[in-house]
Amino acid sequence: MPAQFDINELHWLLDIVQSIDVGVVVLDRQYRIEVWNSFMENHSGMGAETVLHQSLFDLFSEIERDWFTRKVETAVMLGTRAFTIWEQRPNLFRFKSYQPITGLADEMYQNVTILPLRSPTSEVDHVCLIIYDVTNVAVNKRQLESANNQLQELALRDGLTGLLNRRHWEQCLEHEFARHLRYKSPVSLVMFDIDHFKAVNDTYGHQLGDEVIREVARITHQLARETDFAGRYGGEEFVVLLPDTSLDGAAQFAERLRQGIERLQVVHEGAALAFTVSLGVACIEPDLKTHTQLIERADKALYRSKEAGRNRSSVHRNPEIETCNTLSGNAGH
Ligand code: GH3
Ligand code: MG
Ligand code: MG
Repeated sequence: MPAQFDINELHWLLDIVQSIDVGVVVLDRQYRIEVWNSFMENHSGMGAETVLHQSLFDLFSEIERDWFTRKVETAVMLGTRAFTIWEQRPNLFRFKSYQPITGLADEMYQNVTILPLRSPTSEVDHVCLIIYDVTNVAVNKRQLESANNQLQELALRDGLTGLLNRRHWEQCLEHEFARHLRYKSPVSLVMFDIDHFKAVNDTYGHQLGDEVIREVARITHQLARETDFAGRYGGEEFVVLLPDTSLDGAAQFAERLRQGIERLQVVHEGAALAFTVSLGVACIEPDLKTHTQLIERADKALYRSKEAGRNRSSVHRNPEIETCNTLSGNAGH
C-alpha cells in the first residue's frame, strides 16, 4: 500500500467491491474464505459472517477439489491470472439462475477469473476469485446453436414431405458409393414414381395431389429402416437408398412398398381415392463406375415397370431387367 494511501480510499474500494455486480471472493492459501461480497451473499444465501474463515470446499461440495486446486496452484506458481469459462464448465458455484424470460437455465452460468494476490513482501498469500454471471450470453448462444441445428436439418429436407431433398440425398448416395468401393458392402436403390399423377392433379386439384405425395412419403418413411436414405427425387418421384441390402432384399422391400401404397386411401369429398406407384430396383455392381449409373439403372427398371402397365416393380439384374410381379387386383385409377 503506498504511504500516501488515504484511508477513505479504502472505504470507497470496499464499497465498490460490496456493491459491484460480480462475485468477489478472497481465499487464503488454505482455501479459507476471507472476503465474500454481497453478490456472493445474495446468490449463495449465506452471509459473510457465516462463511468467513471457513473452507471453500466444506461449504461448496459442488466444487471439484482436485481440478480447482490444480488450477489455483498453477496460477499462484506462475503469478498470473487463470480463467475458467462456461463452455468448459458451466459454473464454479452452483447458484440458482433467475432468468425471467427464457426459463431455460436453472443454474447460473459463470466465467471465473483467478487472481493471485501478492503481499507487501511480494509472496502470493491470497487468491481472489471474480465470478461473472454469464447466463444471458450462455442461454443466447445455446438458443442460437439449437436454431442453427434446426435450420441445418431443415436445409437437408424437402418441405412438403420431410424426406431428404434431392441434393442431400445425392450426397448420401455418393458417400455410400465410396463406402461400397472400400468395404464392398452391398448397396441397393429403389426408385419409384406415382402412376398417372397428372390425372390426380387435373381431376381433384393440386392440393389433393400434395396430400397424395405426403401420404406416399409417410408410408415410405414408415417402411424404410432407420439406416435407409429416403428422399424426394422430383415432383412425384421418390428414392430409397438401402445400405447393406442385396438386390433381392431391395426387391422385397420394393414389393412391400408397392403393396403398402396400393392400400393407402386419401379421402376427397367423402370418397376414398386409391393410387399406385411403379418401381425400379438396382444395386451397385462391379461394372458400375459412378453413383449416377446406379440411378440410371434404377430409372431404367422404373421405366420398364411403367411400360409393362404400372403398379409393379422391376429389377435391373445386369444386363437384363426383370419385372417381378404382375398387377395385383386393386389397380388404382
Ligand atoms: P406416369 O404414370 O407416367 O408417371 O404419369 P404421370 O401423370 O404421373 O407423369 P407426369 O410426369 O406426366 O406427371 C407428373 C405430374 O406431377 C406433373 C406435375 O404437375 C405433378 N407434380 C409435380 N410435383 C408436384 C407437387 O409437388 N404437387 C403436386 N400436386 N403435383 C406435382
Ligand atoms: Mg408419375
Ligand atoms: Mg414423374
